[in-house]
Amino acid sequence: MGQEQEGGGAEEYLFKIVLIGDSAVGKSNLLSRFARNEFDNNSKATIGVEFQTQVVDIDGKQIKAQIWDTAGQERFRAVTSAYYRGAVGVLIVYDITRRTSFDSVKRWLDELSTHCDTTVARMLVGNKRDLENIREVSVEEGKSLAEEESLFFMETSALDSTNVQAAFEVVIREIYNDVSKKIL
Ligand code: GDP
Ligand code: MG
Repeated sequence: MGQEQEGGGAEEYLFKIVLIGDSAVGKSNLLSRFARNEFDNNSKATIGVEFQTQVVDIDGKQIKAQIWDTAGQERFRAVTSAYYRGAVGVLIVYDITRRTSFDSVKRWLDELSTHCDTTVARMLVGNKRDLENIREVSVEEGKSLAEEESLFFMETSALDSTNVQAAFEVVIREIYNDVSKKIL
């Protein structure tokens, strides 16, 4: 047992979190690693998937994270406002082995600001850190951009699982902290 909520309140949290960033940076694989502990070299398999829901335990509270994936739409610059609607968290992903994807982060932040207000929990994610030998963007560059733009920052690898759980959990915890501040 031990499932009852303190105070008898049947609190339920459902947080919408969106993934954005250039095509092929690893968004779909970060999500499949997080939600199903799977990695997929054939990214086509994820086209059509809108979102996945994952339950995360934060301080004993079961929190549902509904994580949305662009499912290839970013190629056509067709990420719609419906995609962003209601989002309380966002992971902006670039590929540490592709500088152009890092340069695009500002464009994604601009777009984000037209759809979401500044209270959205934001994490900058430098993915593919397993490919150290072909790195084009240093950790310091990632960190300093994150500081400039007031974002959380982590480097991840969807391939070897490094920091994937942690990146999502930092965002979820931040959202949860914001929500609990409002309730108290
Ligand atoms: P998306 O377009 O942003 O959704 O990117 P995908 O998740 O489809 O990944 C694009 C390509 O990068 C695929 O071939 C993946 O196998 C590969 N990939 C994704 N994440 C990683 C990673 O952490 N490390 C490595 N080495 N490859 C990755
Ligand atoms: Mg994808």
